[in-house]
Amino acid sequence: MQDCIFCKIIAGEIPSQKVYEDEQVLAFLDIDAKAPVHVLIIPKKHVGSVLELGEEDGALTAHIFAVVKKLAEELGVAKDGFRLVTNTGLAAGQTVPHLHFHLLGGRELGWPPG
Ligand code: C5P
Repeated sequence: MQDCIFCKIIAGEIPSQKVYEDEQVLAFLDIDAKAPVHVLIIPKKHVGSVLELGEEDGALTAHIFAVVKKLAEELGVAKDGFRLVTNTGLAAGQTVPHLHFHLLGGRELGWPPG
């Protein structure tokens, strides 16, 4: 989608530090890391947020979660624990309107989030 920063990252028009890529999904380091491990996992298909995920995206959604599990294990946070966050809408602080899951770990994570 034009003017979508994450679509531009997927297209290689904006650089990113990729940690995983396949035909459906890209994962890269967040440029403003909030934890020792802070990766964004995004579908290559433009989906604005979870509100735009449909039943037809069931296989894609399951695949995203399989990638989350794989990365959590590879990045060494699966054992101690990590957080998976998808901010949705303005009040939740979503700044990029392309579905993304923040995988955060490597430190104690407070609850509730701010
Ligand atoms: O949940 P939210 O929409 O605020 O998250 C967007 C995230 O995308 C931010 O954590 C921001 O640091 C990250 N980002 C990035 N690379 C960019 C632009 C934004 O990692 N080029």
